[in-house]
Amino acid sequence: MSYLVLARKWRPQTFSDLTGQEHVSQTLQNAIDSGRIAHAFLFTGARGVGKTSSARILAKALTCEQGMSPEPCNVCPACTEITAGTAVDVLEIDGASNTGVDDIRELRENVKYLPSRLRYKIFIIDEVHMLSTNAFNALLKTLEEPPPHVKFIFATTEPHKVPITILSRCQRFDFRRIPLGKVVGRLRHIVDQEGIAISDASLTMVARKGDGSMRDSLSVLDQVLAFCGDQVRDEEVVSLLGVVDRRLLLDATAAVFGRDTRTVLDIVARVDEFGYNMRQFCGELIDHLRNLLILKAVGDGTDLLDLSEAELATLRQQAESVPLDDLQRHLTVLLRADGELGHTSFPRLVLEMALVKMATLAPAVPVDQLLERLNRIEEEGGGVADARVQWRPTPPAPAGSRAPERTAATPPPRTAERQAAPSAPAPRREEAKPASEPRRTGDSWADFVALVKGRKPRLGSMLEQGSPLVVTAERLEIGFPEGAFALASLRDSDSQAALKELARQFFSAEPVLVMRPLAPGAAEAPPNLLEKKRVEKEQQQTVLKQAATSHPAVADALDVFGGTLAEVEPLEGKEPR
Ligand SMILES: [Zn+2]
Repeated sequence: MSYLVLARKWRPQTFSDLTGQEHVSQTLQNAIDSGRIAHAFLFTGARGVGKTSSARILAKALTCEQGMSPEPCNVCPACTEITAGTAVDVLEIDGASNTGVDDIRELRENVKYLPSRLRYKIFIIDEVHMLSTNAFNALLKTLEEPPPHVKFIFATTEPHKVPITILSRCQRFDFRRIPLGKVVGRLRHIVDQEGIAISDASLTMVARKGDGSMRDSLSVLDQVLAFCGDQVRDEEVVSLLGVVDRRLLLDATAAVFGRDTRTVLDIVARVDEFGYNMRQFCGELIDHLRNLLILKAVGDGTDLLDLSEAELATLRQQAESVPLDDLQRHLTVLLRADGELGHTSFPRLVLEMALVKMATLAPAVPVDQLLERLNRIEEEGGGVADARVQWRPTPPAPAGSRAPERTAATPPPRTAERQAAPSAPAPRREEAKPASEPRRTGDSWADFVALVKGRKPRLGSMLEQGSPLVVTAERLEIGFPEGAFALASLRDSDSQAALKELARQFFSAEPVLVMRPLAPGAAEAPPNLLEKKRVEKEQQQTVLKQAATSHPAVADALDVFGGTLAEVEPLEGKEPR
């Protein structure tokens, strides 16, 4: 006797055998129970999910000699004939090969006659969307006034190609892709009956290859059994189906989560050794991380995960060890690698780089923690975003009427200051800290210029362009490039008078003021304040950038967005403590 393929041998014969379409069988059984049976049914859904099998079960349930019942008996002549495909009153028509109007005319002739043996005459038209327009029109006439002894069951993978006039006269049932776990369960039932030794892991690989179709899964299983016999080893299934070994995926993610770069690289070497396509592996890894992400985000009581029970258990364990934020960042890295793998000549290198990057990602600080930290710093009234960024400015503090408040040695918390304000009258504050007195830095030239800038901004900014040649209480000698506008301006009498008065206040003496041109190429002249500030700002940027890039949050942001650090700006009025 020839070998009967599993899909035929194990074709479901009752509604309870039908895997993954409980919503359909429940409704059909209720209809049979209540006697409210439509005259035309449309079964839609992907291939191999049980449409034709359901049509036959329905035909049996409607014509069973034991009486119309929610489950056929499968032993009476009517049931056995339908199972064998020999029942004269059940006509199976393949829409794909009987597309013409003549075929439908013949059908219409046939419809007129009463069933010869069964309760109903049943027409099962598979791939009904393949019928021609004329054939549909001919069929429509019958559907509009069907004789009571006739039932139609249409099946199609493409319901959108069926005319609306036909659709509206049918009771429609949408068959679903069968969840992986259910396929595995059914396969397990079958292999146990067949006396085949095969692991759940292998059955899962088979079912995944079947991609939600029971018929395809059974065909794959046939193929595996033809190759392996009754004793199936996982390695054989892996190599036969060309699937990525799940263990390799688990190992790779475990190594990434454990920050084990050595193992990560070993795994890539193994992937290469087994001859897997790097992009396929990357894709499987993305899928694996997606499953972890969903498990982490919504828990496993969800139909978003198409996994077997055994896989779920392993994933649940792995998901425990890794935060959601990290999973998202890992996925970002992998998705980028996947894009690159599409057009690189170095797929192994791209995968290695991506995995090493993932294994060395700094742990993410949750956003709410960062916000809390920022709030705390704000409440305390100062500090750059994190205590790790420590930089104390050395140039003179900006002079100005508001300067004294801002540069007070230990600024009180803002809130306290606000509360204290009404009870501290403004004049007394003026007395305590004269508005014109900027903070002294110890560099008397810089301090003097700051004072001038505070009182006479125009003069101050011109002084900034001068090189301080001599700065003492007796003599202020400032050099300017020859022909500089500042030199001429500062030499006029009004400017001189104003400067003299400010110098008197600053030095508590009356220094001689000398503004003179510098000889061209006079190398000995000290840099003017503007240059000094520029140099200091550059140094400040360097230090700030170093501090910023070593901050985990910044490093992560650069990682995720693939950017570079352009500028670091100290928060205005918030000196580091
Ligand atoms: Zn029966």
